[in-house]
This record gives sequence, C-alpha cells and structure tokens, in this order.
Amino acid sequence: MTVDRSELRDVSTEAAVHIAALMDLFRQACRLQEWTLEEERGLTGWTDVRCKAGHEFCLTALSLVSSPRPFGLDPSEPLCKKCRNAEWVAECLAALKSVAKAQGVSLTATDERDESGEGHVVFAAKCPKAHRFEATGRDATNWRGEPVDILCPDCREAAAFAEGFAKIEAVLRETRSTVAKRYRNAAEIRCHRGHLHTFYVDSHQEREAIRPDFCGACDKIAKFQKFSERAKDLGVTVLESQWIAASRAHRAVCFAGHEFGLIPNKMKRGCPECPRGMYGGTVPPHDVYYIVSGLDATTSRETVKPGISSGSGYNRLRQHAEDGLSVQHLRMSGLPVGMARKLEKFVLDGLDKGGWLSTRGTEYFPAAALPDIMDLAGEWFTDQSGLAVRPIVVDPSDVYDAVTTPQPPDVVDLDVDTAVVFDSDDVEAIAALTR
Ligand SMILES: [Zn+2]
Ligand SMILES: [Zn+2]
Ligand SMILES: [Zn+2]
Ligand SMILES: [Zn+2]
Repeated sequence: MTVDRSELRDVSTEAAVHIAALMDLFRQACRLQEWTLEEERGLTGWTDVRCKAGHEFCLTALSLVSSPRPFGLDPSEPLCKKCRNAEWVAECLAALKSVAKAQGVSLTATDERDESGEGHVVFAAKCPKAHRFEATGRDATNWRGEPVDILCPDCREAAAFAEGFAKIEAVLRETRSTVAKRYRNAAEIRCHRGHLHTFYVDSHQEREAIRPDFCGACDKIAKFQKFSERAKDLGVTVLESQWIAASRAHRAVCFAGHEFGLIPNKMKRGCPECPRGMYGGTVPPHDVYYIVSGLDATTSRETVKPGISSGSGYNRLRQHAEDGLSVQHLRMSGLPVGMARKLEKFVLDGLDKGGWLSTRGTEYFPAAALPDIMDLAGEWFTDQSGLAVRPIVVDPSDVYDAVTTPQPPDVVDLDVDTAVVFDSDDVEAIAALTR
C-alpha cells in the first residue's frame, strides 16, 4: 500500500483547523472564568493565567478544554484552585490560630505559601519551650478534622516518647522485668528470666509493640510448658530440655518406659510403641510426687528437680538418677488421682513467683531452691483440708537398684532438716534411714 502525499497534506490541514478551534474554546473558557491570559503557549504548553482574584497559576489549554464541563462551571466551583479552596484555607487558618493560641504558640506570617497549591500561608512558629518550626493551616487539624493536641513537632515527639516510656514502665511492673540500659529513644530491658529485649519509642508501631508478652524466649518456655502438660495428659513425659519447634520431634518417654520422639503438633497418638488403647482409654494417673537433686549431667550444675511420676510406671526416679539427680528428698506415692499434678503446678508457680529461674526446661532449678521447694510442697499439703497425712517413703534400695554406678553404698541422703514431715510417726523412720 502506498501513501498518497496529498492525503497527508489534507490530514495536516484538517488538524490545524481543529487545533485552532480548540484554542478558540480555550480563550472563551478563560473569558468566562474572567482569567487574564499573559501569553498563549499552544494547546499543550504551560500557559500562565491570572484569575479575577489575582491568583497566578499555569495550566495547559488542552487540560482545560478537555475537562468535563469547561463552560458550564458552577460559580461556587471556580477552576482556579486557590479560589476554589479559599473557604477551606480560611477555615484552616482560623483553626491554626485557635490551636496556636490554646497552646501558647506564637505565629509570624511569611510571604511563602505551602506546596499544596491551595494557598496556605506558611507561618514561622515558636512554642512555649522555644522550639522553632513552620506551620500552616493544614497542620492545625488531624486526619479526623479535629484540632491537633500538640502543634509543635518537637513537643509532639517528646510527648510520644514520654508515652512510650510510660508504657515501658507499666510493662516492667507487670512482668517483673528490669531496665538494663536506657537510651534517648529506647530501653533495653531484662525479663524476669534474664532475657534481654529492646523496646523503641520512636514510631507509633514501635510503641504499640511495648506489651507484656514481649519476650520471645519466655514465650518459648511457655510453649514448652504447655507441651509438657499436654504430654502428661497422654501419659508421656517430655525428656527434651527445651522447646525446639512445633513440627520437630522432642525426646519423650511413655508410661511403659519407651523412649520416642514426640512432635507437638502431632501428639494425639501418644507413644508409637504402646498399642492403641493400651491403658483402656485412660492414661495411668500420676500418683507420685518427688523432689530429687544432684549434679545435672546436662547442665553440670547442682540441681534440684521436683516432679511427678507413677508408682507403677515411668521410672522417672531411675532416669533422674542416671542424669545425676540421684538424691531423693521427698517421695510421696499413692496420691489420689489428680493431686500430684496439682501439687506440681502449685510448687512450680510458687517458684516462679519467688523469682527462681530454671536451669533447663521448666522444672529444673538451682540446688539452692531446695528449701523453697520443700516449703511449697509442705504449704500445699497444709492447705488441703480433709487430706489424710501421708508418710514419706524413701526406700534406699529403690534408688540403689536404679543407679548403675560401680561403687554402691548410700545413695539416699535424706536431710531431716529439709524433709517435710507430714506425720510425726515417720520422724523415727527417717532418722533411721539417714544414719
Ligand atoms: Zn483565584
Ligand atoms: Zn515545642
Ligand atoms: Zn524472657
Ligand atoms: Zn510406650
């Protein structure tokens, strides 16, 4: 296909006619708006105009004539942005003056207008604390259209920081945490278990993050505790000393002594080696409460461990002895259903309140916690009304058998002073055991 040259010429000629017509329309529109046109710049050039109120601005002819209603404009909606916003700008100015007056801020008008193009006057402002800043009517109200609480940006930041630090103080009180280091815009704090965490007060988002549940490490401990409790419901004891992940295997042992990996989000089945329904649908009860101590092979620290077991299963005391916790301070067996776990919870909660930190997991504590543990156990029993007192049973041969150390003699080191005696008849028996 070839292009006819004369056809091209026709198109150019025709376009020129239309362009001239559009420019005509533009001039008419300007006249109707009572605008003064300084110099025409064609259809697409930026043309300087002045409105009847004397506002100067620029626009392109094309944008004006292609607007939906270039001629049928509502007089209350002038095309000049400044005229259109005059009322709004006046409202803003009034708001600014009232806010400034209420807050003791002095305003000095400048020749500048802000970059919005609406014609807000820029003021040089000074707050009562002598901070200097610029303000326009647009700064006087918040996004809801309410007057701003604090006009001065420096004072506003100081107030936000103060609010953040007050929140931190509240969290410290609530969580028994302490400040490790203070910064101008942050505080490094130590949770009651000793984990470090830094709170920032700079942004709204960071201030929102100042909450009592800030400690990720403690969160893990809480998860682990919940996991251990759910395992106990299934007749399974978690041997793993800490939380790994919901989808990962944690070392565990069942009532019958099978060791296996227990996965937190797949734990319904319980022990894979025990046949399903082996316990007749009910999990064997924990009916033994014990307190053991010794040098923990895992942490190499002198450790005390309160816990629960069953007289006919678990073999927890044997396992503890293998781990180095071979000294028994208390062993109560034959406890009524549910009681061992209640007592266990009472003691662990009491240790937490007393500020004891676990050496591993959630149930291993420094040896120095032993008197507190004994006291808590005693306290709990004292508070159980109608409970028949139970004798302490410490059979040296039990533990003896369990420990596979080559050099035997006395493994049981029962300390009469720290042992809780619930029945005075037992004192003699204990005395006999301790030699
Ligand atoms: Zn105007
Ligand atoms: Zn200020
Ligand atoms: Zn923590
Ligand atoms: Zn099993």
